[in-house]
Amino acid sequence: MGRRFFELCDKLENKRSLDESEYAELISEYSEENAEYIFSKARCAREQTYSNLVFLRGLIEISSYCRNDCNYCGLRKSNKNAQRYRLSKQQIMECCEQGYALGLRTFVLQGGEDAYFTDEIICEIVSQIKSEYSDCAITLSLGERKYESYKAMFEAGAQRYLLRHETADKHHYQKLHPEIMTLENRISCLENLKQIGFQTGCGFMVGSPFQTTQNLACDLKFIEKFKPHMVGLGPFIPHKDTPFAGFEKGSAELTLLMLSIVRLIRPNVLLPATTALSTIDQSGHIAGLNAGANVIMPNLSPIDVRKKYSIYDGKKHTDVQAAENISRLKSELENAGYRFEITRGDFIGA
Ligand code: SAM
Repeated sequence: MGRRFFELCDKLENKRSLDESEYAELISEYSEENAEYIFSKARCAREQTYSNLVFLRGLIEISSYCRNDCNYCGLRKSNKNAQRYRLSKQQIMECCEQGYALGLRTFVLQGGEDAYFTDEIICEIVSQIKSEYSDCAITLSLGERKYESYKAMFEAGAQRYLLRHETADKHHYQKLHPEIMTLENRISCLENLKQIGFQTGCGFMVGSPFQTTQNLACDLKFIEKFKPHMVGLGPFIPHKDTPFAGFEKGSAELTLLMLSIVRLIRPNVLLPATTALSTIDQSGHIAGLNAGANVIMPNLSPIDVRKKYSIYDGKKHTDVQAAENISRLKSELENAGYRFEITRGDFIGA
């Protein structure tokens, strides 16, 4: 039992590649009994580049305004119940100050696609962070923008950009998004980011509505070809005020398998154990690391706005994923055999 699963894991470990149909087979053959086989291979691959280091990034959720209408996201513009806020430059700088004092050396500025944050405003914020914290990396995750806009942000000092592709299957993409949003544009943004020189992150939700095993296989093949520096992946969790309110959440087990596979495809990828995973499984951050992840993003946003950045129901914002509880997080992870350094934690390799 499980022989085919082991064969495919071995092949992936040796070749860093499978056919799309083999990825689908690997997913179908996965079970609780054979999970540790792939998890241990993934840990081994991660340790060859990053040892047992976990990189911490301070997440600053800068705006809950969004011009998009993604069917899965609580920030979607049609959600009239959403509480909207945007942080001022001063508030963002205060978050950085707090994060720096906690030993964080990467700040991730994430938000809905908010027209208030023009290139000029973002570049000004990026430059100020850069000038006050020259030893820190700045990651942006602000959605789809024009080439010139990404270029200006890069020149202002941002080095990394996260833009999940969400799904690499065109038909599935259209089920998750309004017609005006296209997979083609998403991919072209990702290519632009890479070309400009950003450490670029793509990713997807596990268990999003209408997702098939074939879709997941397609996502994995996309990652294999695109060669991202970072991959953000976590379970889909329904939000009550979206068209997907009635759908089931994604599974933690399948998310862990995806983390392991991504680690085996790209041994040096920077791979977060996401808040979404910890939301559906209390010890998700440790399980994620044990399946091959090596990044955790404690939330640095001002406490009073955290509840308003409600992308899915039940999002954790006061537990170990909160920056003010970083010492608890560190001791939990140290007990699980991981280490920290005060470092930017850049991507290593090509
Ligand atoms: N607007 C930016 C963008 O589009 O990349 C960044 C913010 S967006 C809220 C960040 C990510 O949250 C999305 O890429 C999506 O994968 C994830 N997300 C949104 N709704 C979700 C849900 N219901 N469950 C799990 N993840 C979700």
